[in-house]
Amino acid sequence: MEYESIIGLEVHAQLLTESKIFCGCSTIFGSPPNTQTCPVCLGLPGVLPVINRKAVEHGIKTVLAVGGKVHAESIFARKNYFYPDLPKGYQISQYEKPLSTGGFIEIDTDSVKKKIKINRIHLEEDAGKSMHPDDESDDETSVDMNRCGIPLIEIVSEPDIASPEEAYLYLTKLRQILQYLGICSGNMEEGALRCDANVSVRPMGVEKFGINTEVKNMNSFRGVEKALSYEIERQIEILEKGGTVVKETLLWDEKKQISSVMRTKEESHDYRYFPEPDLVTLAVSEEWIDQIKRSLPELPEQKKQRFVTQYEIPEYDAGVLTSSKELADYYEECVKYHPESKMVSNWVMGEVLRELKERKIGIKNFKIAPTDLTDLLRLIDEGIISGKMAKEIFAEMTETGKSASEIISEKGLAQITDEEELSRIVEEVLTDNPENVKMYRAGKEKLLGFFVGQVMKRTEGKANPKLVNEVLKAKLSENRDEK
Ligand code: ADP
Ligand code: MG
Ligand code: ZN
Repeated sequence: MEYESIIGLEVHAQLLTESKIFCGCSTIFGSPPNTQTCPVCLGLPGVLPVINRKAVEHGIKTVLAVGGKVHAESIFARKNYFYPDLPKGYQISQYEKPLSTGGFIEIDTDSVKKKIKINRIHLEEDAGKSMHPDDESDDETSVDMNRCGIPLIEIVSEPDIASPEEAYLYLTKLRQILQYLGICSGNMEEGALRCDANVSVRPMGVEKFGINTEVKNMNSFRGVEKALSYEIERQIEILEKGGTVVKETLLWDEKKQISSVMRTKEESHDYRYFPEPDLVTLAVSEEWIDQIKRSLPELPEQKKQRFVTQYEIPEYDAGVLTSSKELADYYEECVKYHPESKMVSNWVMGEVLRELKERKIGIKNFKIAPTDLTDLLRLIDEGIISGKMAKEIFAEMTETGKSASEIISEKGLAQITDEEELSRIVEEVLTDNPENVKMYRAGKEKLLGFFVGQVMKRTEGKANPKLVNEVLKAKLSENRDEK
């Protein structure tokens, strides 16, 4: 029997605010444990939370970017559960009336563009972090409350995702949008973006959804993809054997590449959600929404389309170049100095991205400034260096931070474009190969390649190939009539 998989993702994104969602504590990542806490985020008795306006604004930005509906009124609720990293015994979240509903994220699958609908986006606070020892001899787990009260949005998708690959594309696109908006770092390793993946399978043709499980604890998008593939296979195997899938929460083990049961899935009534009595209704005015709408930056999809029309580059190129705002800015800066937009695109997508990948750095930390790159490209256009030489010079630039012209003069790398000098070398080659000259003149014009090769050999590859061809052809036809 054939099966199909159905996936819905719940993504938690930490919002880039200076202070926490309900108190004034700092949100800076990586400070010593428990140095960024106060009675509010520690949940001591008698304190009152106050909503952070910036967090709400960041949430609204996201809703608008995905075309969702911001509700004029939303309500905070207490989600009650006990866990060592949750000192209050409940998390302030939104339940029945979330910040928004609707919207979609469009992904580019191999064949088509597909809209993945968003069910809802709501605001909530993060919990603390349990710190389990790496060392097995140490049996103490400690807890860091710095993360308590960091603002989050949770973006819940509809079960519109059909495969692990689509899940990967969805996450990549979502992160891109959040980063363009400047509201989340998107850094999964620091936990700034986390994904719970819900997945079920059903026999092809059956309409009713299968029972879903939820997989947590993946620390990369590829991890999500792998965990989903694993889980789909596991569920199919259960059904094939006539069993039923149990609704449960599983933890993905990155090292072993398997999932294991964390807990049988809780139902929402287990959380005893009820409206947070210490917070009033969150009211968002039309004017505020309009104001935020006007402040939205150019989003990835718009930028991509603009690149296609403005720079006349293929959609593929535009997609790669706009994968991050910083890379897009770098490209545009280059084109400003060197308007050969496709040539610049090839270099940025090729040499620059390869270099960044090898060095595991982002474009922000890249040593070669746009003007330095375009200086190099101009030297190619002017025929001073060949494309091949340029790649070597580029590699040297990334090593030493020197400019292209510095490297060229130091190494004597410039192409020989002096016609007189080339003529002299061509003469030498012809004199040294009289037999071949005779044959060429007798009609064996294929030998031109041989002569070009000889000239290149004598100049150690520095001769300008176009000029070599011209000079050779001229010289070889010069005396043809005499013989
Ligand atoms: P649950 O009660 O299991 O938490 P929710 O309705 O809260 O389900 O939805 C959580 C996420 O699970 C959503 O992203 C939703 O799209 C997805 N989801 C719900 N049912 C299924 C299913 N049968 N298969 C796959 N994903 C599902
Ligand atoms: Mg859920
Ligand atoms: Zn605090």
